[in-house]
Amino acid sequence: MYEPYASLAATASGSLDDTDFQVQSSKMSKPTYMELALKEAVGAAEQGEVPVGAVVVDVLSGEVLSGAGNRTVANNDPTAHAEIIAIRKATTKLGTPRLENCDLYVTLEPCPMCASAISFARVRRLYFGAYDPKGGGIDHGPRVFEHSSCHHRPEVIGGLEESQASDLLKNFFQKLR
Ligand SMILES: [Zn+2]
Repeated sequence: MYEPYASLAATASGSLDDTDFQVQSSKMSKPTYMELALKEAVGAAEQGEVPVGAVVVDVLSGEVLSGAGNRTVANNDPTAHAEIIAIRKATTKLGTPRLENCDLYVTLEPCPMCASAISFARVRRLYFGAYDPKGGGIDHGPRVFEHSSCHHRPEVIGGLEESQASDLLKNFFQKLR
C-alpha cells in the first residue's frame, strides 16, 4: 500500500547530520513520513483506538517498511501500541531483530514501554509529533534513553507536525466525554 511513496527514496539519506530532515522536507512532495503516521493514527481513531500512528522507514532505500495504529482494544493487548506493532512488522519483513538503518516516525511521544522497544530495536532515529507530559517516556517521566540501563539511544527529534498530532488526540478524547 505504500508504493506511491517509493519516490521518497531519493530524499532519504543514511547520514546522521542534523540538516538531514530539513533537506528532506524541503525536497519532498507530499505526503511526508509523519503524514503517513498521522494517517495511521486517524485509522486507529476510526476503530475506537487511541489515535496514535507509527511508520518505520528504511533510511537507505527510503522505503516505508511498516505502518500501524494503536490496536490495544482490537487485540485485547495492552502492549499493542502503534510503535510496537510497526517495529514487529518491520523486523519480520527484514528478518532481523534490529532496525539499525531505520527511522521510526510516531505521532505521539512514545511511552516508556515503546521507548525501551525502540532502543532494543536499535532504531537509528526517532521522530515524534506531540509531546506527552502525562505518559511520555522520552522527554518526560522516566526519560528512558537517559538511563544507564539504556544501551542504545536513538537520535530524537520531537515536535514534528506536533499540532496535527495533538489535535487528533484532543478531538478523540473530547468525543469520549
Ligand atoms: Zn507505547
